[in-house]
Amino acid sequence: MSMIPVNKPLFISDEKKYLNECIDSGWISSEGPFVVQFEKDFAKYVGRKYGVAVSSGTSALEVAVGCLELKKGDEVIIPSFTIMSCALAVVNYGAIPVFVDSEPDTWNIDVNKIEAKITKKTKAIMIVHIYGHPCDMDKILKIAKKYNLKIIEDAAEAHGAEYKSKKCGSFGDISCFSFYANKIISTGEGGIILTNKKNYFEKAKSLRNLGFGKKQRFLHQDLARNYRMTNLQAGIGLAQLKNIDKLIKIKRDNAKKYTELLKNVKGLQLPVEKNYAKNVYWMYGIVLDKLTGFTAEKFAEKLAEKGIQTRPFFYSLHLQTIWKSKRIKVKSAKCPISERIEKYGLYLPSGLGLLNDEIIKIYDIIKELLSSKKNKYD
Ligand SMILES: *Cc1c(COP(=O)(O)O)cnc(C)c1O
Repeated sequence: MSMIPVNKPLFISDEKKYLNECIDSGWISSEGPFVVQFEKDFAKYVGRKYGVAVSSGTSALEVAVGCLELKKGDEVIIPSFTIMSCALAVVNYGAIPVFVDSEPDTWNIDVNKIEAKITKKTKAIMIVHIYGHPCDMDKILKIAKKYNLKIIEDAAEAHGAEYKSKKCGSFGDISCFSFYANKIISTGEGGIILTNKKNYFEKAKSLRNLGFGKKQRFLHQDLARNYRMTNLQAGIGLAQLKNIDKLIKIKRDNAKKYTELLKNVKGLQLPVEKNYAKNVYWMYGIVLDKLTGFTAEKFAEKLAEKGIQTRPFFYSLHLQTIWKSKRIKVKSAKCPISERIEKYGLYLPSGLGLLNDEIIKIYDIIKELLSSKKNKYD
């Protein structure tokens, strides 16, 4: 039986042409011309002045936190429901992540629970537009202003998403994107930092590249790493970027088809699109109602038996066991929404190459699974 994969990338632009140009010209490392071009074009697409391309979304977050020059013990507010990269970036700089629960409908950080977590040590808020749905930025910006906090915006799942007609990634003091293979546009592996501030731009370039000195190249000015993006990756990125609106439309169309079908199935919570939002539906997540009798894990097993690959939702960061085992200081937190969606949430095949027939097949199987099992809706 062939599986419907959870992700299938789509290459319908000049990816091959640009890769060939790299090979023909010999520009395969980070010194090539596509890197700067990609930085400029992507920054322009999002509406920011500066871009610094890096090796992954995770390294983008790390560089972003590095730009803030936090001191040991400083606190950064982050959602509990997100990828580990967010917390790692904070703890790797000796700062303390302070976890906040999610909104039940968008699964984004609950803006109404942020203020209660702010202390004298809080320096920044890291927000994440989960699965392509924008956070409620006005409220977040207001809190940041009131308490003089920096905002790191993780838009790794939200290329092209909009909050009140403004693109995600254009709100934070620093914003980060990933171009991993399953993201809306990809460079294979890759990421970028965007900012409007010259000092962050300069610092990010230094942190990406060993902190080389400006006057004396080998007199290093930062404890930096090698997070460079190659010209090969940037070439693929440029080709993908040319097509980004088309790719977003595919995501939105597929989500619309899923929702049209699944909204009639009892016991499922589907992705939303708030009035203020343009959701790009990076991944089409569903949360099962307890009354269905399925956890996400059990449901995923059943779907896999029928040839449908899925992925579970994130495991809440405040419950990660590594904090204790590695003696890393984090603030304990209560995040019941995050814990519930982690247990009952999963995402369906959402790749750009997903076919209409596959969506219909997935719907049929979900409907059958939920109606055949004896549940409280009977
Ligand atoms: C994918 C992702 C990242 C990490 O990106 P990589 O390129 O895989 O390192 C960071 N944040 C979020 C929200 C992501 O979805």
